[in-house]
Amino acid sequence: SKDAGGGVFHAYEPQLHMAAEERRVLEIALRSAVEQGEMHLNYQPVVNAATGQLTGFEALLRWTHPEFGNVSPAKFVPLAEEARLIAPIGEWVLRTACDEAARWDVPARIAVNVSPEQLHNPAFVGIVAQALAQSGLLPERLELEVTESVFMREGTVAVEVLEKILDLGVRLSLDDFGTGYSSLGYLAHTRFSSIKIDRSFVQGASKGTKEAIAIIRAVVALADSLGMATTAEGVETEEEHQMVQALGCSKVQGYYFGRPLPVLEARALAMHASGG
Ligand code: C2E
Ligand code: CA
Ligand code: CA
Ligand code: CA
Repeated sequence: SKDAGGGVFHAYEPQLHMAAEERRVLEIALRSAVEQGEMHLNYQPVVNAATGQLTGFEALLRWTHPEFGNVSPAKFVPLAEEARLIAPIGEWVLRTACDEAARWDVPARIAVNVSPEQLHNPAFVGIVAQALAQSGLLPERLELEVTESVFMREGTVAVEVLEKILDLGVRLSLDDFGTGYSSLGYLAHTRFSSIKIDRSFVQGASKGTKEAIAIIRAVVALADSLGMATTAEGVETEEEHQMVQALGCSKVQGYYFGRPLPVLEARALAMHASGG
């Protein structure tokens, strides 16, 4: 029982217990979330920074549990990664995004987030190829977002997997750039189409923080010289938009341009943007 402990333990043990219990309960619920139909995707617009034209969408996973309600991916994705549940969930995300986007009949690009665990599996290339073949989505319409952390692990499996994915004609973007691993070596040998600049730098820059401005400038220069685009993430205000545009970011994404949308609303936006 929990009432035996005295002193300092009394103050924080119940909290720790709650956190562990919550994790355990969420993990069990996560195991059946896909098959119970509790998952769906939202699509957030990505636009050209200079023209405001829609260039595509990022697919973002949503989980609505019948009892717990909406659970944030910031909470359940790391849990799914630790519990080794991210591969099957990620495969569902990939197939669903390809199926849904293929039915839009407009050439909007779809970006899908991929966890390191998925890229450390040589079979992932076949999973991507199958998602494309079964949906009929053209490979150039699919973009996979990977984070720097994928390059942290020993061995080259992920690098080879990324190469084979590029060979399929699928694009890659580097997500949350600057928030993790700092070696730049992999940028020279993996062909990314774009680098996504984390919201923390966007916020910093628009507040006039010199370091944030310097970092965005450097990333844009680096991306330019490597023939890559830059996407500023989490742009919430006109001021932030002006700032990242002035710093040379080619694309922008954030609440200022649109929240993540349910699939039908995203489709309508894509149709409208293509003049349909
Ligand atoms: P992320 O890949 O960096 O995705 C961008 C996050 O920023 C999303 O949060 C999005 O809703 C949010 N966001 C977009 N615009 C704004 C803005 O203007 N202001 C602010 N404050 N936030 C903005 P979300 O949907 O909660 O996802 C959180 C994270 O969960 C994602 O970060 C990604 O790392 C992960 N995630 C989401 N879906 C998937 C998925 O299908 N697979 C994997 N492996 N991870 C996913
Ligand atoms: Ca992302
Ligand atoms: Ca990001
Ligand atoms: Ca992220």
